[in-house]
Amino acid sequence: MINTSILATGFTAVLPDWVMPFVADYQAPLVTSEDRMALVHALADRNHVAGNGGPFAAVVADPATGEIVSVGVNVVLSSGLSSAHAEVTAISLAQVGLGSWDLAATRPGLELVVNWRPCAMCFGAVLWSGVQRLVVAGDGPDLERLTGFDEGPVVADWAEQLALRGIEVEQDVLRDGAIATYTAYGESQALVYNARRS
Ligand SMILES: [Zn+2]
Repeated sequence: MINTSILATGFTAVLPDWVMPFVADYQAPLVTSEDRMALVHALADRNHVAGNGGPFAAVVADPATGEIVSVGVNVVLSSGLSSAHAEVTAISLAQVGLGSWDLAATRPGLELVVNWRPCAMCFGAVLWSGVQRLVVAGDGPDLERLTGFDEGPVVADWAEQLALRGIEVEQDVLRDGAIATYTAYGESQALVYNARRS
């Protein structure tokens, strides 16, 4: 017999209360990749100060119109879920909003905009999501150096691997803004929740 009375049967990640009013007041339309990345940076700056999780945010958008389809922030600390990264949150909320696990089948051409190259887990999440474009503020060791997070083993040709699977990549969009966010985070007393290294 296994004691199932102690086993959880579901899990929930929700955006913090400040996110929707913040987005509602944000200047739109967000015509360019830079416009959308500026929103991501603003969300990331607010998120870690508010204590929900790491200094990371993401949006799913339609680059043809600039419409925002979903908004995500890192809610690892507030949800108690290690996988509740900004990318996973934004992708999942887009899928809830559109009612489909395959974004490309439901609404072709959507992009994910995020304030750094996705970590090892989120790289996989992007592949599985149906987004057809990925916009990142930067790549390389600066994120880990400035924040202390361990992003895991991501293949060197990650962008080419995404392109091979029909996901176009745009890099170095408002990179300085990401560096500013990570610098502020690193200088705070914030909890780096996966900093233990063997
Ligand atoms: Zn991640």
